[in-house]
Amino acid sequence: MTLAYDVLVTLPPRAVLPDGTSVRPLPAWSPISSTLIHGERDAILVDAPHTTEKAREVADWVVASGKNLVAMYATHGHGDHWFGFAEVAQCFPGVPILGTEGTVALAQYQATGRMDFWTSQFPGQIVENVIVPSVIDSHTFLLEGHEVRFVEAGDSDTQDTTFVHVPDLGLVVAGDIVYNGVHPFLAGGDAQRRRDWIAAIDKIAALDPAAVVAGHKAPGSDDDPRHLDRTRDYLRDAEEIRATARDAKEFADLMTLRHLARINPTILAQSAEHLFPGTTVT
Ligand SMILES: [Zn+2]
Repeated sequence: MTLAYDVLVTLPPRAVLPDGTSVRPLPAWSPISSTLIHGERDAILVDAPHTTEKAREVADWVVASGKNLVAMYATHGHGDHWFGFAEVAQCFPGVPILGTEGTVALAQYQATGRMDFWTSQFPGQIVENVIVPSVIDSHTFLLEGHEVRFVEAGDSDTQDTTFVHVPDLGLVVAGDIVYNGVHPFLAGGDAQRRRDWIAAIDKIAALDPAAVVAGHKAPGSDDDPRHLDRTRDYLRDAEEIRATARDAKEFADLMTLRHLARINPTILAQSAEHLFPGTTVT
């Protein structure tokens, strides 16, 4: 019996300010991927979104699979990839919720020092009583005798990110190291972090995967490994344009022209305003 996987892409709700107005005119968050890697009987869930409604969609989807959930794994510490595990855990009590040491450290911060951010962006919508992942005992998990590897890849859109590699499937579940059809979030670090990000992409590419599931992907997009190159190209374009653009608006305009097919310009605006402090895209 071999393994298989399924991906559910959930659409996040509109982010709003405490006064009820939208932060930006467009949906301010990107679609989020949850991946169920399964054998004949057992399954591992990778990542779950941060709002109750969307996390419930994931929980219902896992229940409907009929599989026996044996673990949940967060690719990195950002709340939009693990808050939802608490909702799934209501259907699968006691199932281990896991992450690497780096993921757990960032997750602890997200659940405490950063929770005000989440609740201000998504008032009344964030999953309650989030469960901070526990540190994995081993970087290899055996799912019905097949290896599922939790691979540390250093920084990408945030600190200490990881991906999941399933050699028998040629599958990589990339978390935020790969963005598929969505503007990558560049506001999470400096130029060094963006160079590290490219190294993380290269680390996945070296495995020559047959499928790469991006943490944020446009609904309906495939999981082709070309999204590794596409993300790398985007990062290089960003460095090139950053060196010549005069302000956030010019950066965002030039990036848009090169990446017209990517959705969620709100993220591009955040990146632009991060790269050109004191200027705005509007
Ligand atoms: Zn993310």
